[in-house]
Amino acid sequence: EFRLDAIDPEIAAAIDDELRRQQSTLEMIASENFAPLAVLAAQGSVLTNKYAEGYPAKRYYGGCEHVDVVEQLAIDRAKDLFGAEHANVQPHSGAQANAAAMAALLDPGDTILGLDLAHGGHLTHGMRLNFSGKLYNVVPYHVDPHTGHVDVDEIERLAREHRPKLILAGWSAYPRQLDFAAFRGIADDVDATLMVDMAHFAGLVAAGLHPNPVPFADVVTSTTHKTLGGPRGGLILCRSELAKKINSAVFPGQQGGPLEHVIAAKATAFKIAASAEFDDRQRRTLAGARILAERLLRGDCANAGVRVVTGGTDVHLVLVDLVESALDGRQAEDRLHSVGITVNRNAVPNDPRPPMVTSGLRIGTPALATRGFDDEDFREVADIIAEALTTDDLDATARRSLLGRVEALTKKHPLYPTLTHGR
Ligand code: PLP
Repeated sequence: EFRLDAIDPEIAAAIDDELRRQQSTLEMIASENFAPLAVLAAQGSVLTNKYAEGYPAKRYYGGCEHVDVVEQLAIDRAKDLFGAEHANVQPHSGAQANAAAMAALLDPGDTILGLDLAHGGHLTHGMRLNFSGKLYNVVPYHVDPHTGHVDVDEIERLAREHRPKLILAGWSAYPRQLDFAAFRGIADDVDATLMVDMAHFAGLVAAGLHPNPVPFADVVTSTTHKTLGGPRGGLILCRSELAKKINSAVFPGQQGGPLEHVIAAKATAFKIAASAEFDDRQRRTLAGARILAERLLRGDCANAGVRVVTGGTDVHLVLVDLVESALDGRQAEDRLHSVGITVNRNAVPNDPRPPMVTSGLRIGTPALATRGFDDEDFREVADIIAEALTTDDLDATARRSLLGRVEALTKKHPLYPTLTHGR
């Protein structure tokens, strides 16, 4: 008698519609993924009912014996997965994780160095309207205008000039790996703390396909829902000596009761991330991004003004530069949407267009890899994207043809075939 569709048919219908959208389109937003059914089950559990302020075995509420098991498993698995001495699995999101980590390490007014939002950084790395930009004195660093790679010489120069208390390495839209050893060296040189935000590439790290920042950084933050493929949420890893400071910055510093249902889902996601199947998925994620970059570097795309920032990728996403193309970022996003491919428009470094329009696309492969896509499938996806972006005027016939090819791929790799959501 408590079925969702009986009690709340409007919400049930919207969930059904969203399930169908996910099933029938190609999800290529680089920060998205499909959580496995086991993760959805843990998150949709009675753990949502429980208050558990505090930490395992040190709670401010009774009846926490079972959520203690859940949270301790999540902590232990996160530590094992990334080789960390301490893990805090309570941050409600990546932004909360960053807010807590910075609160633990900084006082208001302290100077931080972070990658400029317009060059691929995140809002929480010092954007003017974000808590980070309001609380701290932000000195942004940039990518080199010629290579598109993070300009390590600039970071070193800025660090010596501004003596930041914290150097923040990490990104939301950047197609290359960062040199954590170089960041460590610069931080040591000016006596700064090094924080790495691995939200985007944590899944690649877990699979051993990307350098692990944990041995280099004082604190590592992450989300659990991007390449890692878990529930929406945040995570903080650090050395033992910072554990107390980090824990108290999360609770009671930033948050009240932890979301134990989400923490259970994180634990399940960490377990899955330690499996060989997960490693294979991350390998296909990387291969797919490389295949897409290589396809977009070919002559037909170059002639249409479609470029690839940094000339390739070594992560799970490709940044497409459309400054010279007939389509701006918004038009290109709409164009791909019209053939069943979901991406987001994204500013490219030194973008001449405003943030609501932009001159670029960020295209990621994690969700399709989770769906089972292999190299052959990604070649077809890359061809569809190339055709959609280079055809001058995509008429109804051409659009139908591309939609048909997208539909064939979605049928080849059914998503959540057993789910009947909203019922
Ligand atoms: N850090 C980075 C690098 C991100 O890309 C994001 C999200 O896009 C976040 C933090 C924030 O995560 P959330 O959206 O869960 O607050």
